[in-house]
Amino acid sequence: MHPLDRSTIWPYDERGEPGEFYYQRNGHPAGVAAERALGALDGGHALLFPSGAGATTALVLALLEPGATIALAEGAYFGTGRLFERLRTWGLDVVEYDQTGSPPDDVQLVWAEAPSNPFLTLPDLDAAAAHAAPVVVDATAATPIQLRPLEHGADFVLHSATKFLGGHDDVLLGAVVCRREEDAARLLDFRAATGIVAAPDACWLLLRSLETLALRVERQTSTARELARRLLEHADVRVVRYPGFGGLLSFDVADGEAARRVETSTRVITNATSLGGVRSVMETRRRWEGDRVPAGLLRLSVGLEDVEALWTDLAGALQQV
Ligand code: PLP
Repeated sequence: MHPLDRSTIWPYDERGEPGEFYYQRNGHPAGVAAERALGALDGGHALLFPSGAGATTALVLALLEPGATIALAEGAYFGTGRLFERLRTWGLDVVEYDQTGSPPDDVQLVWAEAPSNPFLTLPDLDAAAAHAAPVVVDATAATPIQLRPLEHGADFVLHSATKFLGGHDDVLLGAVVCRREEDAARLLDFRAATGIVAAPDACWLLLRSLETLALRVERQTSTARELARRLLEHADVRVVRYPGFGGLLSFDVADGEAARRVETSTRVITNATSLGGVRSVMETRRRWEGDRVPAGLLRLSVGLEDVEALWTDLAGALQQV
């Protein structure tokens, strides 16, 4: 395995010049190794940040000027919308658009999410790529195993690496993968100047986790597909949202009270937030997202447990409805 070097400084060379690594804010070995591995998976130049939200902040502030407008996919991760609302103070505007169609004219950045969390819609990537503005695809829930947005004309991919890439609910991390080297250089410069830098331990954990990413995602997909199919046939389930791949799905029961009973009745599936880990987690989303989600919506992130154990657990919890 790659050694973990926590140094914040490295000696200059014999001529007194800095080498590849000299001060941790500018770059460190575990970070560069993890970035190379992720860049290879996505087919671009990856940069790591201390969280997905940190990666989003850095990308938007490095790319845009005050007065710019971001077109954000409706139903994208609610924290991204909340973050862009905060950035209005710095002169950035945000409009929502239906990502299954074309982004609006006259915006300076298009922000799609594939698939969106928790509505699980997929963007029309051809329509987004035809837009004059740079396109970012948050592919947190798809991972590069299922979708490589740079191959579909996106300029940047965003990942909350806290989710499937890290995969074990033990590391907070974000990534931007750039199609063009010059964009990566600009973002690297912005990152070193602002100090929005991921720590070596977190990057090392990502490096370890990427070794099993493909296996985890394949297994999570096959289990999630089966659970989505069975949920669709269940008498107490009103809607199932599943794009056909990946480990994330959402479904609706009658109302908020029923959903609360379901989420607190499972024993194999943990009642917790987040997604993408080796253990299944489920929660109602109304608590965080308010009226924009149905009161009965439950978001389920499928882990690596046995599919029959998960179904028995889910079916038992649904009896509480
Ligand atoms: N993007 C998506 C799709 C997410 O689900 C999340 C977190 O839930 C984020 C971005 C933000 O990532 P983080 O929690 O690592 O800051």
